[in-house]
Amino acid sequence: MITLLPDHVANQIAAGEVVQRPASAVKELMENAIDAKATDIKLIIKDSGKTLIRVIDNGSGMNEVDARMCFERHATSKISTADDLFTLKTKGFRGEALASIAAIAQVELKTKKEDAELGIQLTIEGSEFKSQEACTCPNGTSFSIKNIFFNVPARRNFLKSDRAEYKYILDEFIRIALAHPGVAFSLINNEKEQYQLPKETPRQRLVSLFGKKYNTRLVPVEEKTDIVNVSGFICKPEFAKKSRGEQFFFVNDRFIKSPYMNHAVSNAMEGLLQGDHHPSYFLFLEIDPAKIDVNIHPTKTEIKFEDERSIYAILRSALKRSLGQYNIAPSLDFSLNPDYQVPVTSKGKTIKTPTIEVDPDFNPFEQEKEIGKTALSGGFSSSKSFSSPTKSAKGKHWEALFEEIQEDMNAAIPEYESQPLTLEAEFEIGENRFAFQLQKRFILTQLKSGILIIDQQRAHERVLYEQYFKSLQNNRPLSQQLLFPQEIHLSPGDMELFKEIMEDVEALGFDFTIPADHCLMINGVPFETKAGEVDKIIDSMLDSYKNESDVWKADSQKYMAGSLAQSNAVKTGKTMVIEEINQLIDELFACELPFISIHNKPTAIILEINELIKRFQ
Ligand code: ADP
Ligand code: MG
Repeated sequence: MITLLPDHVANQIAAGEVVQRPASAVKELMENAIDAKATDIKLIIKDSGKTLIRVIDNGSGMNEVDARMCFERHATSKISTADDLFTLKTKGFRGEALASIAAIAQVELKTKKEDAELGIQLTIEGSEFKSQEACTCPNGTSFSIKNIFFNVPARRNFLKSDRAEYKYILDEFIRIALAHPGVAFSLINNEKEQYQLPKETPRQRLVSLFGKKYNTRLVPVEEKTDIVNVSGFICKPEFAKKSRGEQFFFVNDRFIKSPYMNHAVSNAMEGLLQGDHHPSYFLFLEIDPAKIDVNIHPTKTEIKFEDERSIYAILRSALKRSLGQYNIAPSLDFSLNPDYQVPVTSKGKTIKTPTIEVDPDFNPFEQEKEIGKTALSGGFSSSKSFSSPTKSAKGKHWEALFEEIQEDMNAAIPEYESQPLTLEAEFEIGENRFAFQLQKRFILTQLKSGILIIDQQRAHERVLYEQYFKSLQNNRPLSQQLLFPQEIHLSPGDMELFKEIMEDVEALGFDFTIPADHCLMINGVPFETKAGEVDKIIDSMLDSYKNESDVWKADSQKYMAGSLAQSNAVKTGKTMVIEEINQLIDELFACELPFISIHNKPTAIILEINELIKRFQ
């Protein structure tokens, strides 16, 4: 028995594809406002969109007929034939967003065209028209979506926490705001203004959304070709993150996800990033709409490129060029090339510059003459005839040289202390410690039983980790007050995350207030924290929390301490003075686990004398 489903049931089922959560409705409504050429778009939400989503625009507005029509499935003003898809300049074209939204919520529409005297007010609930009347309202359109999924309890129950749903909404808001810096946007959540973005340049928009610190991190990208125009920004590699947070691709101002293009970016940055870090980027591709297909996914976040490989290549080379231009790509570093290392000469010995000794009496032509005389050859001399000019003189030279080398070798052999070697394996550092730094990475010091080699960065991470962990456990943080309190600007998404780890951050020794919505005021920091690094530290803490939030939650003190230790530790490549070296050695061996790094790698190894002896056999 086959029956045709009634419209409202079909709509409800279809709605599942387009509207999965409040954020999907936000996306569709905001895109419609952009398509209506609005220059000012306001998004107002309550309870993370669960009770209210309102989008107000100053765009074209609709007349009475359109105001009713827009809720019909496949009702669109944006295309009329399938061919129009290949010249598409609008975000929407499927004509199903409003039909879907109206099927699962209570919708109120107010709209007025510029030349109309009165506007129209219309309500619809679960696809059912409730009312329609004339009203006074400003030019443009306002959609209110109330009680989303009110008639689909299963869906409503599946919604996540307010915080999580709010985060989804923010993601959509940010994507659209980034793509349209020429449009003013505002976002009000539970009556609190979260964003107020005026019309601005792409760079300003980025900074308004992600914070002032981004201004210095951005490297512009610009490339115009026949196939594609690339513009936007890539973040300097040193600000790459462990999470894939800020990776934005827009094609013709539409946010898309593309692992393939992401690969092009990673490829362009090869060698500039640490293994587990991801670049941040905000890239805009402009392509002839005929050369892409956006209609492969109902939410239109995936697209197909006709000429994927060329775009990949162009993108990659555009990025490489930008990075090179702004001196981000590494220059050759000869100082670390072992081929160029000068060998250590023995103490007290001066280096001799090589001298060229010339035998003033040597004349090859004379000799040739002689040979020619005896061999009576036709004037051409074989190479052999040159082989032994002034034999005796040359022999003397080599003898002298050999003696010199012998001398050198004798001097290079260290004098062995005649005292017997203690072969005790236990670790002991002598009274008069002799320690030095090698290649700005290792610290070498002598032990009774051999040589101790410490990895400076890992060792310091271990030291700080144990100290921070202890202060977290005792809840007695050692904090130092900052001379100048520091203001840190967080994106709303990051602020939400920050609130989740706030208590631990405090227990660690940070002293802060939240004077405004996106603003942290840091007054004090844990010991060994450099004032200039505070925002980097908060950033990397949020980054690793984002990345590993589940494990982090289970063992937050461990992750907190680890993250801060990593930020504050001495890095490979840093020159350390002898006092610092000695302090590090002492602190390392005061640790509970001195030999294991916080990532379970060795912090130090011992090269034992008997092993050395073995190797000289
Ligand atoms: P689509 O965007 O795919 O065309 P929608 O269901 O989102 O489909 O919208 C249907 C139609 O309603 C649009 O084609 C447009 O004509 C009209 N419309 C929707 N939102 C607005 C708006 N904010 N301002 C003016 N017209 C709008
Ligand atoms: Mg639409």
